[in-house]
Amino acid sequence: MDYINRLSCEFDAKSTNEGLARTIVSAFAVMLDPTLEELADLRTAVSEAVTNSIIHGYGDRKNPDDKVYIDCTLYDDRIEVVITDHGCGIADLSQAMQPMYTSAPDMERSGMGFTVMGAFTNQLEVKSKVGQGTVVKMVKVFDSKRKE
Ligand code: ATP
Ligand code: MG
Repeated sequence: MDYINRLSCEFDAKSTNEGLARTIVSAFAVMLDPTLEELADLRTAVSEAVTNSIIHGYGDRKNPDDKVYIDCTLYDDRIEVVITDHGCGIADLSQAMQPMYTSAPDMERSGMGFTVMGAFTNQLEVKSKVGQGTVVKMVKVFDSKRKE
């Protein structure tokens, strides 16, 4: 399918940028005229992925080279969002994606991030390599625009 528009950005892996990330993606998605609910779902899913990159991927390294990358592509009826970090990676992906699994219970994490990303989007794909980083791809279909 031909795409309509693309956006790529990178920013420092700092918690202060989580809000910025979801605002950038939702501002871009507005071009497709989604419903408020669809936009809210997209924002939540993006937040979960970006938060994971910052807190789990990079931890507390506070290295100025630690960046989070977002690549968005708009199609007629959907947005594809790819969130990439070059952090520590995930050793056991199927365990990490189980509801309520968290490696950071002490940080009051509930282990629901991946579950939320899956529930609030139409497609979730995660690739990760220990020592290299993690790539999360999500597709959100805007039903009012859906093509048969
Ligand atoms: P919550 O999102 O509910 O606050 P959580 O972040 O622990 O808790 P998930 O988002 O589902 O839960 O992630 C599950 C686990 O997968 C994390 O605890 C962490 O170990 C690992 N993980 C997720 N994303 C990354 C990432 N980008 N880099 C490294 N590890 C990750
Ligand atoms: Mg999480």
